[in-house]
Amino acid sequence: MKIAELIEKIAKLRKEGNYKELIKFCSEVIIKGKEEEDYDKVIAGYLNRGVSYYYVGDIENAFLDLIKHRKLIEVDGKPADFLNSVNFFFVLYLHNKDYENCKKTLDQSIKLAKELGHLHIVSNGYSNYSHILNLEKNYKKALEMAAFGVEFAEAFEPYSELLIIRVKLNYIKSLIFLENFDESKKELDTLETFKAFSQNKRELASFYDLKAFFYLKQERFNKARIFYDKAIELVESYEDLNLLEDMYQSQIRTCDQLKDYEGKSNYQEKYIKVLNSIKKSELDKLSLSLEIQHQVAEQKKEIEYVKERNRILKDKNTLIEGQSKKLEELYNELWKVYDKTHKISQKDYLTGVYNRKYIEEYIHDVVFKNESLRISVSCLIFDIDNFKKVNDTYGHLIGDEIIKNTCEQCINLLGEEHKISRYGGDEFIIVLNDTTIDQATKIASTILDKVEGSKVYLNNNETVNVTLSIGISNNKVHEPKDVKEMIYFADLGLYNAKRNGRNQYSVYTESIS
Ligand code: GH3
Ligand code: MG
Repeated sequence: MKIAELIEKIAKLRKEGNYKELIKFCSEVIIKGKEEEDYDKVIAGYLNRGVSYYYVGDIENAFLDLIKHRKLIEVDGKPADFLNSVNFFFVLYLHNKDYENCKKTLDQSIKLAKELGHLHIVSNGYSNYSHILNLEKNYKKALEMAAFGVEFAEAFEPYSELLIIRVKLNYIKSLIFLENFDESKKELDTLETFKAFSQNKRELASFYDLKAFFYLKQERFNKARIFYDKAIELVESYEDLNLLEDMYQSQIRTCDQLKDYEGKSNYQEKYIKVLNSIKKSELDKLSLSLEIQHQVAEQKKEIEYVKERNRILKDKNTLIEGQSKKLEELYNELWKVYDKTHKISQKDYLTGVYNRKYIEEYIHDVVFKNESLRISVSCLIFDIDNFKKVNDTYGHLIGDEIIKNTCEQCINLLGEEHKISRYGGDEFIIVLNDTTIDQATKIASTILDKVEGSKVYLNNNETVNVTLSIGISNNKVHEPKDVKEMIYFADLGLYNAKRNGRNQYSVYTESIS
């Protein structure tokens, strides 16, 4: 899942209150965020996971995540992140009944919220402060703090009854503790007119609880009992077990005062039940937290495994890449060698022109392979005149030079489309592609002139004159049946040229044979 999708999923799970799944997805966001260096996401991941741990009762991990969250926001955080951090620290300290730290975090929260202009958070901060001070029996200061809270709640826009109710509940509680019953009564009567109670069960329950406390403090037990009953009925509907535990205890004491032993035993029964439920829910939380820890450990293992596998695959890939590169180089090398040897195998060593094998295959390909594409091809065979005598007179090395020079002359005047090859000894074949017999005779005549006109120098600066005799055949004119016959017809032409006095060409005719 991509990180943006994960964030969406987290928002959805938070709405549903599915903290177990939240922990899983937050862990993924933390890992992915770190990988992509997207620290805003990592920050959100730790906060959401910490809150989720708190809700499933794993306070230790909640603290750990909150500490990690704090470390990150100290580098990258925005003021809102700090506010989230201190507010959540407060919740955890309150859970641990660590009131000193509760007050410290509230100081920070109030200061920050004031800087940011978040009046509702300032009001909540003072309200919580008052709550802590009430728990510490510092009622005067608690009243003072709650009064600040009321001020900020009333200044908050848009006007929020609920915000005022929450802080007023603490304010009135301090008043009751201080036994200022007149003022408390006034405040309670005003609060009762607030419409927001109709839609907020928890605040209404707290209101009834406070009213019960108001009467209890004045030892008006009957009234107290009525309001505890009302509060209990509401709290039972949303099953806040810890609150119920407190309320049953208060109600048991009230019944005791009223000597209503039936009522007392009724609440004692409920009290025992709720204690059992609390124990059970704590056990449930514990097992859930263990299950989550196991799940997170598994997830970590899986991520490590995937990372390890990716690392191995990457290594393998580099290895294969290296190997295939080497193979490619080797292949190229081999191909070059093959190409070279192949070319060499087609060529005559002395002159560098094609050899007999090559030219015979070539004639086969252009003349006999595909009859329908047959174009006019002429075949010239030439042989150096009286070459034996040249060898005898000037030696073999000069003979070699003459052979090479003859080839060069031919190559120079033939186009790329034509091929020349050594057929053997002082005999050569020229294949003239797409050339009629008339064109071939002209080329033959030019070859005779060129070779005769060229000079091979001897050591003493004398020159040797060389002439050739040429025989000519053509596929269209003579219609040979195969390569051998095409060469044979040209060879008969050559024979005829020699017989007629050399240094000339002769086209094959049937009469020659
Ligand atoms: P003709 O005009 O009838 O062709 O007379 P010729 O003397 O040229 O007779 P022929 O073609 O039969 O003789 C070819 C000679 O070419 C025989 C051989 O010694 C010589 N020869 C063949 N290959 C080479 C070579 O590579 N180098 C040299 N120097 N001589 C060669
Ligand atoms: Mg010869």
